[in-house]
Amino acid sequence: MPSMRLTILGSGSNLHPTRAAAGYLVRTDRTFLLDFGPRTLMNLLKTGADRHRITHILFSHFHADHFADFIPFFFDAAYYSQQLGKREGLTIIGPRGTKRLFNVIVKTFPGFSSAQFRLTIREVADRSFRIGRTRITPRTVVHSQRLHCLGYRIQYGKKVLAYSGDATYCEGLLKLCRKADVAVLDCSFPANRPGRGHMHAEDCGRIAQEAGITRLILSHFYPIADRYDVTRQAERWFSGQITRGRDLLTVRV
Ligand SMILES: [Zn+2]
Ligand SMILES: [Zn+2]
Repeated sequence: MPSMRLTILGSGSNLHPTRAAAGYLVRTDRTFLLDFGPRTLMNLLKTGADRHRITHILFSHFHADHFADFIPFFFDAAYYSQQLGKREGLTIIGPRGTKRLFNVIVKTFPGFSSAQFRLTIREVADRSFRIGRTRITPRTVVHSQRLHCLGYRIQYGKKVLAYSGDATYCEGLLKLCRKADVAVLDCSFPANRPGRGHMHAEDCGRIAQEAGITRLILSHFYPIADRYDVTRQAERWFSGQITRGRDLLTVRV
């Protein structure tokens, strides 16, 4: 079985000056996205991946930094399907609240309801499902008290990729990352300048070490995180390979 490829479309947060916000392209036997934050659509175009072959978008939660580029993406998909050709169906997957949100969006934005492809909206919690031959396990993580927030564990063949979404150090995240080959974790802050609702670099290292992962990718940086050596901070806890995420980095899992 060929390997899984992960491309970081955005390693920053909402208003980061040089990094797009949260978004990841995953290629297995299928092509799908994890989150779709502002400026990640531009990076998706730069990868050369065919955006019309994206069949699933998995959202971790609905803060704008994980979501905003869905709007121009869907507008384009609807237009394309009407004017230029057929498109495979699109499935939107996310935590509680996904159906309500997307039903309103599709009904409200001009042109959205005339898309000529099947749109499926699914809410998921802590149970596995498949996309083609790829096994996905969502896991509830602690981030915002007012929102149901998910991370995703993605297995293709024997390889496992874990994505935290936005999360604090918690039991759900440890389970999500258990023995993963690669884990992409929310490293919003440097350890010496922590903030609420997110991990800092040492939290990421600690999760990586305790979950026994192989390679840690730090991502979701706030601008403050770029002023410190977050890799070195994560190394205080984790002895495996650590990569400081950057936009358009592709790794084989
Ligand atoms: Zn968030
Ligand atoms: Zn975020």
